Amino acid sequence: MRILETEGITVIDCVTGLEVTLGGQIAFIKSDMPQGCEIAGHVGPKGNKLCRSCTISKQQASDQTFDVFVNQRQQAQNNAIRVGMHELKTLSAIKKQTTNTG
Ligand SMILES: [Zn+2]
Repeated sequence: MRILETEGITVIDCVTGLEVTLGGQIAFIKSDMPQGCEIAGHVGPKGNKLCRSCTISKQQASDQTFDVFVNQRQQAQNNAIRVGMHELKTLSAIKKQTTNTG
């Protein structure tokens, strides 16, 4: 998939006989909750921040008044978390960050 996203692959067009380069990206993945969390790099329901779509905590999970729209995770926040994870040097720092962000 990475090769398709970056370089593409060269194939022969069966109609024209010419070489063409194909590229592609994943636009949509349908999955159940555990698999979706794994793909998204989220620890899922076992995490302190158990939802990959919002910032609800374990303690708030039964709170019927928690507003998932107001507290939804923004793409920029998720990107910042991912970038920050790459900069962490120790396993304990990574575990701490994972605990705090889900
Ligand atoms: Zn949520």
